[in-house]
Amino acid sequence: SKSSDYRGRFAPSPSGPLHMGSLIAAVGSYLDAKSRHGTWLVRMEDLDTPRCVPGAADNILNTLTNFGLISDEPVMYQSQRTSAYQDAFDQLFRDGRLYPCACTRREIADSALHRGSELIYPGKCRAGLADSREARSWRVRVEQTRIKFTDRLQGQFAQNLACDAGDFLLKRADGLFAYQLAVVVDDAEQQISDVVRGADLLDSTLRQIYLQQLLHLNTPTYMHFPVAVNQQGEKLSKQTRARAVEPDNAAATLCKVLEFLGQSPPASLRKKTALLAWAVDNWRPEILSGHRQRTV
Ligand code: GLU
Repeated sequence: SKSSDYRGRFAPSPSGPLHMGSLIAAVGSYLDAKSRHGTWLVRMEDLDTPRCVPGAADNILNTLTNFGLISDEPVMYQSQRTSAYQDAFDQLFRDGRLYPCACTRREIADSALHRGSELIYPGKCRAGLADSREARSWRVRVEQTRIKFTDRLQGQFAQNLACDAGDFLLKRADGLFAYQLAVVVDDAEQQISDVVRGADLLDSTLRQIYLQQLLHLNTPTYMHFPVAVNQQGEKLSKQTRARAVEPDNAAATLCKVLEFLGQSPPASLRKKTALLAWAVDNWRPEILSGHRQRTV
């Protein structure tokens, strides 16, 4: 029953099986799309090939299917989209937005400004490479201007990219295009109207909006729900050894996800299909407004 222009997506990185944190992103994006009679897509972000785990993409798709979360269109694989990323890269290059960078990780760590866990590139190679230095990677020039957007849950969010991000990488030293470029190109290609994901990506959103502006692409609407953290306050991820979602007991797991998302499914619903249908009909994300993180 597709009757709107809403197009949403879930974009997992196949670096391991789905865990509670990624399932929350899947369910949240699905419910938002389906409650608006929209299209929901799965995009496999297998761009960072060194971090991809063989079999993880299929494993993720099987787990999603087990929960009744099925992409409305064929799954897009970033590993097959290199020429589209190259085109966007070439366009930015022709427009004078990019420059080659010779700095090693070590040089950057020694000279960069630190903002939280992030390093802000100080712009050493911005004016051109010194004679003996060889290009390793490519960066996009950012401007001293504020980029801002209004998030459906987090409200107004703004950054001056020059201070808060620095000239960021679009092509890495290993030759791979960066996530920020790929995601912008793919969201445009798939005509995504609404990006629904965790608040850990809020900072990335401003870089993505900047790239959309440089590439003359539409900016989707964004909704960032709270990041799922464990009892220690750490984001659930492979690094914090978040457990894989078990295939058994899908209804109980789905209930937990819905409760995390602030929804209150009636106890009488014991089957995953009934739960999911209830959740689509009763989706009220506003209840999560202003929450950056929540414990699962
Ligand atoms: N692939 C990214 C991740 O797993 C998500 C990107 C996105 O939703 O834009 O964190």
